[in-house]
Order: sequence, then C-alpha cells, then structure tokens
Amino acid sequence: MSTDGTTGTTRTTRTTRTSRKALVIGGGIAGPVMALALRKAGIEAEVFEAYENSAEGVGGTFGLAPNGLGALAVVGLGAEVGRLGQPVGPMVIEDGRGGVLGEFAGLADLPHQRLMRRAELYEVLQRRLRETGIEVRHGKRLVAAEEGAAGITAHFADGSSATGDLLIGCDGTGSTVRTLIDPDAPAARYTGLLGIGGYSAHRLPGRAGRGETVHFANGARAFFGYWGLADGSGTAWFSNIPQPEQLTSEQVRTVGMTEWLRRCRELHADDLPARDVLRRADPDTMETFPRLEIMPSVPHWYRGRMVLVGDAVHAPSNSSGQGASLAVESAVELARCLRDLPDHTAAFAAYEAMRRPRVEKIAADAMRTNNQKAAGPVGRMVFRLAAPILMRTVMSPEKMLRPVHGYRIDWEQRVTPVVPKVPVVPVVPVGRQGRAGRAA
Ligand SMILES: Cc1cc2nc3c(=O)[nH]c(=O)nc-3n(C[C@H](O)[C@H](O)[C@H](O)COP(=O)(O)OP(=O)(O)OC[C@H]3O[C@@H](n4cnc5c(N)ncnc54)[C@H](O)[C@@H]3O)c2cc1C
Repeated sequence: MSTDGTTGTTRTTRTTRTSRKALVIGGGIAGPVMALALRKAGIEAEVFEAYENSAEGVGGTFGLAPNGLGALAVVGLGAEVGRLGQPVGPMVIEDGRGGVLGEFAGLADLPHQRLMRRAELYEVLQRRLRETGIEVRHGKRLVAAEEGAAGITAHFADGSSATGDLLIGCDGTGSTVRTLIDPDAPAARYTGLLGIGGYSAHRLPGRAGRGETVHFANGARAFFGYWGLADGSGTAWFSNIPQPEQLTSEQVRTVGMTEWLRRCRELHADDLPARDVLRRADPDTMETFPRLEIMPSVPHWYRGRMVLVGDAVHAPSNSSGQGASLAVESAVELARCLRDLPDHTAAFAAYEAMRRPRVEKIAADAMRTNNQKAAGPVGRMVFRLAAPILMRTVMSPEKMLRPVHGYRIDWEQRVTPVVPKVPVVPVVPVGRQGRAGRAA
C-alpha cells in the first residue's frame, strides 16, 4: 500500500496507453528505472546519457535501503538487486574512541539494507534495459528543449535531437532539465563535507569483522564509517571531512590519494578503530567525492511536458543513505501516475503531491546530520553526551526507520487526480529553451 495520503487512490481496472513516448535524460540510477517503469506502464521510453561510455566499474560503495529494494521489485529487479553486495545488520553509533553510544537494529519485518558497489547496481540496470529492448544513447548531453502543442524536442550538445511526448529529467544534482523548467531554480548546495572512502586490510574483531554490523562514529575531527567485508578479508571505510570551501574534482585529483590518506590518518589519529583501519588502508582502492551535495526545496518540479526525478529534484545528501532509494521510488511513482492519468499535467501534479512531503522531510533530517558532521569540537562533545538519551527516545528504530524504510509502492493501486497547482514559473518563450555546455 502506498503511504501517500494525498491522492485518494482507488483500486480499479486500468486502461494502459501505449501511444506515448518519453525522453528520459540521464542514465544513472533514476533514468534506467524510470524507463523500465514506463515500459511496465505501457509508455515507450528512450534514455539519453551525457557520457560517451557506460559507467560500468565506476563509483564507490553505497547502501540500498529496504524501501529502494521494494521499488526495484516493482520493475522486476528486487531479487537480483537483493543479492548484490552484502546485507547490513544493526547500525552501531560510536563515540570515536571505541565506545558504543547506541545501536539501531533493523526492523524485523523488513529486508536488510544492502551495501553494494554502485557499479554492481549499474550493471544490473544496464543489462535489464538491454534485455527489455530499451535504447540507451550515450554521448547525448541535453542542452535545450523545444516544446510545442504536439510534443517536445530535446537538443543535444552533438547537434542531434529527439522528439517525444514527455521529457523526464533524471540528470542528477547538476540537472539541465531543472533549469529548463525554471531558469531560477535553486542549484544543489554543497554540504561543507568532502567524502573519501576505500578498503583496508585491517580485520575487525567479532560481528563487525564478519560484516554483520555497520558502524558510524563522530570522531575528534571528522566523521568515520566502516564495516567488515562479508568474506572477512578486511574493512570498507569512509570519512566525511569538514571542508568549508568546496574543492573542484581537479583540485582533489591534484592532491593525490596517498596525500588524502595521510590527511585522513592525521584527522583520525585520535579515533578508534579509525586509526587502525586507516593504518592498513590501500590508497589504490580509494575514491574521493568532492561534491557531497544536498538539493534545497525545488519550487517547480514540472512545467509543460518536462518533469524531474531523482537527484535532479530531491538529492537528500549521502548522510541520509536514501538518495538512490528515493530516486527509484520517484521513478516508479511517476510511471504509475502517468499510467493512470493520461493528461500529463494531472499526472505530474499527482506525482509531486505524493513525493514532495516525503523527500523533503528526509532531506531536512539529513541536513541536521550534515551540520552535526561539520560541527566543531564543542558540537561533537554535545552529540556524544546527548546521543545515548536520544537513541532511547526520539531516535528509536521504530520512529526513525519505519517511515523511511517501510515505504512500499502498490503498483496495482490506481492514482486519482489532485488539484494541480498552476506553475508560476518565470516566463520562458515557447520554442527553444536552454543553454549549451552545462556540466553534469
Ligand atoms: C559519496 C556518496 C555516497 C552516497 N551514498 C548513498 C547511499 O548509501 N545510499 C543511497 O541511496 N544513496 C547514496 N548516495 C546518493 C546516490 O548516489 C544518488 O542519490 C543517486 O545516484 C541518484 O541517482 P540519479 O539517477 O538521480 O542521479 P545520478 O546517479 O547522478 O545520474 C544522473 C545521470 O545523468 C547524466 N546527466 C547529467 N546531465 C546530463 C545531461 N545534460 N544530458 C544527459 N545526461 C546527463 C549524468 O551523467 C548521470 O549519468 C551517495 C552519493 C554520494 C556522492
């Protein structure tokens, strides 16, 4: 059962329309799931990805939560993705000196969250697109869109174009579609944190070493996360380092992994077990994430035939552990709305009404965590003192995890219209809109 309370859903037989075609911009996580869900809804889709090559093998490790796995099950990927990586048991919150502040056991009736390499999920998505016969066109960077009464034409940086009935922006935090919808749309905001992660040959004792738990610690100078690899071969780790001025990818690359590892060791020199994990960390396995970002509330999720999905409209930052899960939820929910509401404006309005409160609440919670991670020594001390009490009261698993992880999409439930708000977007002349050369 969908947890949205806004759309007044009813269960009836539906008519599937087959005549519409969607141009899906972005072949990351939301884009492929969007295309698969549209296909299930009887709507044709084609995916356009800016990069020339597919991203197999690229990206670090991330967690897919039970709600994300539930959304992937709707498009027939639940079992396959549910076998990727390793399951996560209880989340242990530590004081950075080896002491435990509290523990979040998972919710017994939900599947375990899974930690996987981004590339593993990517491969499954790309394979399923191929099997389903959905085209992914690489080297197609959207730069402009032209909308008329009969359809919408996407223009790409290589001079080519494509026409469809709808244009769905799954193009991440630097979304071009977002600025085509509203030139004044807010940009993603830097969290003030730099992400670094990799693998270490250090073996943890007990259940941590067996990969049964995942651990987070607000250390003396930076935030540290780690978990034992399920095969017992070592430890995966990441650090979120306060970095007030955002560095460019080039600046981060120039520093070099050996130097980043040295800095991590210095920052975590007083933290346990971070110090031991980092002592045996391998710089060749490390990745840096200079753009840890969060999307502020986006006033306009859609305009005309264009709509936004995933990080393009609701990136809740890595601290939520929910970016990918919310992206796939939104993709499936939008497909459901388009299936049941042939008028795309009605479908977009229902989609926004069902998604906005949920994603903005999760982003607001993550923002508080980011502030905590970026806090100075006093803030860290306050957290250490308050955490045990908070975890027994307001931060109980039932209160914290149930609303987020327990969300399930009922694909069979019919969506009924909401009263659409009239989008008051700064006037953009009908016709060709956009600007070339925007970076993803
Ligand atoms: C360090 C880190 C850790 C994270 N950990 C987690 C976690 O544990 N759990 C979790 O759920 N999420 C996590 N996330 C967030 C997660 O990675 C994102 O939420 C997710 O990738 C969003 O998917 P998306 O498809 O919306 O965007 P993306 O994955 O960013 O995909 C967007 C795609 O659009 C393409 N594109 C951009 N512009 C254009 C254009 N103009 N034309 C055509 N194509 C374009 C891009 O090349 C890209 O392929 C983490 C993120 C980071 C950085």
